[in-house]
Amino acid sequence: QAADNIRNFSIIAHIDHGKSTLADRILERCGAIDPRNARPQLLDSMELERERGITIKAQAVRCDYRARDGRTYHLHLIDTPGHVDFSYEVSRSLAACEGALLVVDAAQGIEAQTIANTYLAIDAGLELIPVVNKIDLPGAEPDRVAQELADLLGDDPDQVLRVSAKTGEGVDELLEALVARIPPPAGDRGAPARALVFDSQYDQYRGVVAYVRMVEGELSRGEQILAMQTGTEAEITEIGFMRPHTEPAERLVAGEVGYVITGIKDVQRMRVGDTLTSRARPAGEPLPGYREVKPMVFCGLFPVESDRFEDLRDALDKLALNDAALQYEPETSEALGFGFRCGFLGLLHMDIVRERLEREYDLELLATTPNVAYEVELTDGTVMTVRSPAEMPDRARIAEIREPYVRATIVCPRDHVGAVMELCQERRGVHVDMHFLSPERVQLRYDLPLAEIVLDFFDQLKSRTRGYASLDYELLEPRPGDLVKLDVLLSGDRVDALSMIVHRDKAYPSGRLICERLRERIPRQQFEVAIQAAIGSKIIARETVKPLRKDVTAKCYGGDVTRKRKLLERQKRGKKRMKQVGRVELPQEAFLAVLELS
Ligand code: GDP
Ligand code: MG
Repeated sequence: QAADNIRNFSIIAHIDHGKSTLADRILERCGAIDPRNARPQLLDSMELERERGITIKAQAVRCDYRARDGRTYHLHLIDTPGHVDFSYEVSRSLAACEGALLVVDAAQGIEAQTIANTYLAIDAGLELIPVVNKIDLPGAEPDRVAQELADLLGDDPDQVLRVSAKTGEGVDELLEALVARIPPPAGDRGAPARALVFDSQYDQYRGVVAYVRMVEGELSRGEQILAMQTGTEAEITEIGFMRPHTEPAERLVAGEVGYVITGIKDVQRMRVGDTLTSRARPAGEPLPGYREVKPMVFCGLFPVESDRFEDLRDALDKLALNDAALQYEPETSEALGFGFRCGFLGLLHMDIVRERLEREYDLELLATTPNVAYEVELTDGTVMTVRSPAEMPDRARIAEIREPYVRATIVCPRDHVGAVMELCQERRGVHVDMHFLSPERVQLRYDLPLAEIVLDFFDQLKSRTRGYASLDYELLEPRPGDLVKLDVLLSGDRVDALSMIVHRDKAYPSGRLICERLRERIPRQQFEVAIQAAIGSKIIARETVKPLRKDVTAKCYGGDVTRKRKLLERQKRGKKRMKQVGRVELPQEAFLAVLELS
């Protein structure tokens, strides 16, 4: 069997536990990268990913390992993203593998994403190889961490490998274990072709590059193919392996992982989760696809210069070619004009998209306060989805508002359990359970409204536990909540872009805080600006921005010219991000004021 020498695997880990470094070491050991010109973390290709040290797009690389049994194995390493925003991409990548290395930092131990990823891998039926990494660290406790891993998997601590991805220690034993323990792919090479598209990428010159796992049969260069779910027909112009750069081949056969290029320009026609088959000998059934990605967090994006609306549309169209999770539709705001309501997987995803729009497409954007999507049942029985506070119907028409909930898994040292529970309670959390992973480490589970998590929960969790807690969550069914719309008025005019939906118990404190924050962030204008928070027609808080003093540089000492010039420059730069809202000029920071409401 040709597939006997193939191994398809992923590396899963909590962020920073060394997944990318270990991947580099494996590729290097297999000759796929030359250590002399290797950049660290080869798989994190996008500039932003490298800067932020996160992996966004999953990728697949083939490398060849000559094992101690004298045989050469083709290893397909499928990279997975390491952030909770992208966990759907993790499941996708895992579906293309038979096994996974479960990597845990020897100085940290098991974290929330270790657990979440373990469950995803077990669900996908993978063979898991537990690995303790960073054994070279002075603070490493490999025995303790190996025991934690053994407990998590119901395994023997002897089965846990120990490596240093940094020094390379233990990597050879790891490769031997990988070849011995992970089963080769099963699929029948003679069956009609079925290839699972587990990722795709838009390339400006070559169109859509689909990353595929050949599950059964084979596909060759020049072959006419059919994408079974979308019905797209195309010819394979190039097929091959990532090593890690595209290396063309004649064909891909059952068990192999590689890429397919057809010249199709639109990712919508070659979708992730689709099954490719041969038109000459089509398969009867497509492979099971993936659940559709659902954005969880929404915000409005508006160009600062209103004549750049079409540019923003073009930029979003282009970004979406590579990002199936990004959703957007035109939105009009009385305050901000024409823009888009965009849907994201989470706050990190939102940040990344915004930054890419500004950096790669040279746009200046105003982002409104992020919110979650609500399910609103009206008194006449119809149910609608509300993705922005502006869409919230009149209170008189509402029978019930349901909000998304998540089940959060939090792992922390036992000393911090009190702080974590306190935070969860403040955020309307419902305690589910708690148990000890080891005498020192505790896993807590809470059901929480997603809205309470998306803004600053993670930052709060980190700061209240001095960085020792980790978080992961999965979506639950929406639950009814006592929610109200909180409006903000500037000089008497309601600013739709500043409205938000809050729990009734928090409406008064939130109203007071947002007024205070806005007062700090709205620069003085020629006239007095009244800032008010209101529920319906009821004003619940008020602040005032005093009118401007004439000369801002007056407070500088007479002679210091450079300082004066700097101040004026700063003012000019600050100006660029201003948006005229009614009579009032608002800076971007004003729209983010609500992010600091707790
Ligand atoms: P990822 O987020 O899981 O991909 O983690 P990275 O591979 O980016 O590693 C996170 C940090 O840990 C980086 O600063 C690495 O240099 C460091 N690191 C990774 N593996 C080791 C190791 O075996 N020993 C030591 N001392 N540091 C490591
Ligand atoms: Mg990484």
